[in-house]
Amino acid sequence: MESPRSLFAHRPHWAIRLGPAPFLPMSRRDMDDLGWDACDVILVTGDAYVDHPSFGMAVIGRLLEAQGFRVGILSQPDWTSVESFRALGRPTLYFGITAGNMDSMVNRYTADRKIRRDDAYTPGGEAGRRPDRAAIVYAQRCREAYRDVPVVLGGIEASLRRFAHYDYWSDTVRRSVLLDSKADILLYGNAERAVVALTHRLARGESVRAMGDLRGAVLALSEPLEDTPGRLSLLDASQLATTAPVLRGRPGETAVVRLPAFEAVRADPDQYLYASRLLHQESNPGCARALVQRHGERDLMVTPPPVPLSTADLDRVFELPYQRAPHPAYGGARIPAWEMIRHSVTIVRGCFGGCSFCAITGHEGKIIQSRSEESILREVEAVRDHVEGFTGVISDLGGPSANMWHLSCRDPAIQAVCRRWSCLHPDVCRNLVTDQGPLVNLYRKARALPGIRKIVISSGLRHDLALHSPAYMRELVTHHVGGYLKIAPEHTEPGPLRLMMKPGLAAFERFKAMFERFSKEAGKEQYLIPYFIAAHPGTTDQDMLNLALWLKRNNFRLDQVQTFLPTPMTPATAMYHAGGNPLAPVALGAIERVATAKGLRQRRLHKAFLRWHDPENWPLLREALRAMGRVDLIGPGRQNLVPAARPGFSRGPRPAEGTGGKAAAVSRAPERGSASPARPPRPGSGGAARKKPESANAASARPPSSGRKAAGDRKGLSSGRRPPRLPS
Ligand code: SF4
Repeated sequence: MESPRSLFAHRPHWAIRLGPAPFLPMSRRDMDDLGWDACDVILVTGDAYVDHPSFGMAVIGRLLEAQGFRVGILSQPDWTSVESFRALGRPTLYFGITAGNMDSMVNRYTADRKIRRDDAYTPGGEAGRRPDRAAIVYAQRCREAYRDVPVVLGGIEASLRRFAHYDYWSDTVRRSVLLDSKADILLYGNAERAVVALTHRLARGESVRAMGDLRGAVLALSEPLEDTPGRLSLLDASQLATTAPVLRGRPGETAVVRLPAFEAVRADPDQYLYASRLLHQESNPGCARALVQRHGERDLMVTPPPVPLSTADLDRVFELPYQRAPHPAYGGARIPAWEMIRHSVTIVRGCFGGCSFCAITGHEGKIIQSRSEESILREVEAVRDHVEGFTGVISDLGGPSANMWHLSCRDPAIQAVCRRWSCLHPDVCRNLVTDQGPLVNLYRKARALPGIRKIVISSGLRHDLALHSPAYMRELVTHHVGGYLKIAPEHTEPGPLRLMMKPGLAAFERFKAMFERFSKEAGKEQYLIPYFIAAHPGTTDQDMLNLALWLKRNNFRLDQVQTFLPTPMTPATAMYHAGGNPLAPVALGAIERVATAKGLRQRRLHKAFLRWHDPENWPLLREALRAMGRVDLIGPGRQNLVPAARPGFSRGPRPAEGTGGKAAAVSRAPERGSASPARPPRPGSGGAARKKPESANAASARPPSSGRKAAGDRKGLSSGRRPPRLPS
C-alpha cells in the first residue's frame, strides 16, 4: 500500500480565497449572498443539512471547501421534478450523490417491510421526504438536469450496494448500484481521500474515466479486463469449485480477483455465498486486491479499500468550521437525529468486532481510526460553548463502539497481511492491544473541564473487550453510566452467536457481575440494557425459546423489539439469502447450510419470544409451545413462560417498534402475568431512547469519511501495492 499523502497537502483550488461560508449554500439566494456565480460541486443528499461532523454531506462539503472548492447542498430535493436539481445551477465539476446517513430502504421501511411513519433525518421527523433507492433516483435526476456533468456516488447506500447484492425489500439480487444509477464513479467507504483527489484532478481537467487508480472506487470498464502478463494478473475465482482457489498473482504484477458474475450470483445462491466470502476476504487495505465482477457485457472494477486517515488528518476533518447546527432554512424545526447527537462527540471510526449482521465493518473498515485526545477535548469545549441547550452533560464520547479508541494490532506488519474477519471472535486475538489506559485518561480529562457536569457513554460497548480491562470498567461504571448501559450480547445460544461472530453468554455473565460489583462499590443503582436479535440466520425456534426462558429467569422484560433486517452486503444477509455460512470456507459440496426464519409468522414468533411477558404475544407463544411439545411452559406458575388462555381476556398494548434490529431490555422485579409494557429507559439514561442515528443492524453510518490514529505507512500498511490503472 502506498504511503498516504495528507488530505490537506493538495494545492488549494482558487476559491480558497473566498474563505469558509457560514453555512454551505442551499439556494441561489444563499449563493448570491456569498457572491458565488456557480458551485464547483453540488452535493445531493436525502437528509436535512446539518452542519456537523456526524452528517456526511457536511463532512464532505466542508472538506472540499477547505480544499478551495465552492460546494452547494441540495438537501432532500423534490425527486419528481428535474427543476429541483437545477436549483443551484450547473456545477463546474460534478454532482456528488448520497442517499444520506442511512440506506434509504432501511430509513423508509421496517424489518417487516412496512413503511415507517417518521424519518429522524428530516425536519419535524416527517416521513416521505426521500425516495426509495435514493442514490439511483437522485443520480438519474442530476443526469437529466445536466447531461454532461459527471455524477459521483458516495454514502453508505452506494457503498454497501457496490457489488451485485441481495436486496431484502425486493427479495432479489440486484446489480451494482453504479450501473442502475448510471453514475460515472462510486466512492465507497470512508471516502475523504478519494473525493479530495478526484475533485482536484477533475479541476485540472482529467476525465472521470481516468480515476481507476483511486482507492475505494468503483468504475464500469469500457472493455473487459484481460489477464496481461507483465502487467496484470487476473485471478479467476468466478466459478465455485470443489477446492478454494489459490489467489496469488505473478510476481511484480498487479493482481485483480474476478468474482462470480452478477448473472451467476443472481441465479445460484451458492455462487452468491462464495462471492460474499471472497469480497469480505479482500477488505484489509494492507493486502486487499482489486475485485472485478462482470455484469452482462461489462466489467465492474472495485479498487482496494481506502487507506485510513492519520490522526492528524482525522482531527482536521472534525475541526473544520462546522456551525454545529441545522441550516437556518429549517427555521428551528426539530431534526431528531440532530437532537440525538448535538451534545455528543465522535472519538473513533471503524470497528474490528466483525459482527456478521453489522454494516459498519463493510463500510468503515476493521482498522480503528482515532482522533487525538487534544482534538476531542477541544470539541467538548466547543459543544459546551457553542451548542444551544447544553446543560453540562456530554451525551457520548463514542463511535461505532465505545471502547476501541486507539486500540490496534500490536504489529503493523501483521495487521497489513491479516485476513481475519474479526479481532475479537472467536476469542480476543493475542495480537490485539487492549490497553484502555489512554481512554480512562481521556474520560478523566474531559470530565475535569470547566462547565462539564457529566460525561455519559452511550455508544455500545464491546463487553468481551471491556472484560480485559477492569480499571476501565470501574471508571466507566463509577462515572459514565447515566442509569443504564447498553450492551449487545445479541443472543444466549451458541448456534446463533457463532454465526453472529459474537462472544458466548459467559462473557456477558462475567461482564454483568463486574458491572454490578462496581456499581455497588460506587453506591449507584444502575442497570444493563442488553440487546438481542430475533430471527437472525441460524436461529431456531428452540434457540428463541431458550432465550425467552433465560430472560424470564433473569427478570429481563424487553422494551423495544425488532427482528433481524438483512441489510446489503453483510455476511448475515448472505446467510439469509443463500442459506449457507460465508464465514466458513465455501466450496462445492462443502457448504455449511444455515436455516433462517423467513416467513412472516416465524419471524413474528421469534420476536414474540423476546417479549414473552406481553399478553399480545401469548396466543402465538401458546400455539408454538404446543407445537414444540412444551405445554409444560403454559400455566400460572413461576416455571411457566406464559399463562393459559383466559376467556374474555383483553389484549395489552402493542410492543414499541424499531431499535435497529435488536431488542432492548430493562431489568426489573418479576411481575408475573403483568400486562404492562416494560419501563422505558429514563431520559438521559443512555438507553434505547437515546440511541444514535445508526440503526437497523447499523446499516446507517457516520459520515462517509475516515481517519485513524496513525498514518498507514507508520502502521506498516505500505506494501507498494497500487490499484491497477484502468484503460481510460
Ligand atoms: S492479527 Fe489479530 S489483532 Fe492483528 S489485525 Fe489480525 S485479528 Fe486483529
